[in-house]
Amino acid sequence: MIRITHKDYNDVPEPLTRPGTFRQIQRAVLAGDGERYNTTYYKDPVVVNKLKAFSVHKNNLDPDDKPKCYYCESYTEHVAVLQVEHFRPKAKVSDVDNNNTAHTGYYWLGLEWSNLLLSCPNCNGKEAKGNRFPLEDFNDRATPINPITGGAPLPLGYDRTNCIADGPNLLNERPLLINPEYEDPTPFLTFDEFGQIHGIHEKGIKSVEIYNLKRAPLLSARQDKLNAIIKDINLACAARDLGKIDNNSFMVWLEAECSKVLELDNIRNEYCLWGRYIIANFETCIVSKIATYKDQLREAFRNVNT
Ligand SMILES: [Zn+2]
Repeated sequence: MIRITHKDYNDVPEPLTRPGTFRQIQRAVLAGDGERYNTTYYKDPVVVNKLKAFSVHKNNLDPDDKPKCYYCESYTEHVAVLQVEHFRPKAKVSDVDNNNTAHTGYYWLGLEWSNLLLSCPNCNGKEAKGNRFPLEDFNDRATPINPITGGAPLPLGYDRTNCIADGPNLLNERPLLINPEYEDPTPFLTFDEFGQIHGIHEKGIKSVEIYNLKRAPLLSARQDKLNAIIKDINLACAARDLGKIDNNSFMVWLEAECSKVLELDNIRNEYCLWGRYIIANFETCIVSKIATYKDQLREAFRNVNT
């Protein structure tokens, strides 16, 4: 998880500004029921493509872009569709996050632009985030409001002052889940040299658990990124051992491999946070796993990492 582009709250996608949108919110508020929303809004290409663009730090999605899950940084589009998800669950908050008491969910935020993020099914499904939304203290959970203004004879309006995900009203809840749109996940997440992720502080630990970031396919995808580079470095070392290349060519090869390491810190690539960890921990993640030519490898890394 890395920070993604923060939405411009004054630039709400058109489908979320229609009178029908406000009627949907009004209906949910009157019923106190977040299940009442028409799900077509969450599949609208204008809404979805805007969120996809933010995942690769753009304002508009280009055909060649590969959008990423906001939480696990997987592309996933080749196996599963990225879904619009509610950071604050719209229809229920899990009992375990509300001291075993039933909670209606944040039904008034069902079409709130700042509450919509993009997730793969593996981070957002029932086995993962689902309707989980833990707070430092469940007593601080926001009380329901009615953001709808107007009404006959006036047109319906929407006052989002207290609905903004990182506005004072909702930040008072002190959520224990990282929202990569408005906060940098870096202080809350780290790795070990094998690619496993670990939470830091209560918020990081809860986020790893709830977004299910320790799942096996993610671990092996991170390991694949690292192992591919180690394999190529070992190839270079073998070629040098066999005398197939001279020292100059060997250093050029090692520098090319080290450039690949630096490319892991590319916000458009999968698992960029893991890449940043590898770069910051080059010695333990890579040098320690190479049997020979460690000094040359360190020198090659210094040469490209200036
Ligand atoms: Zn995901």
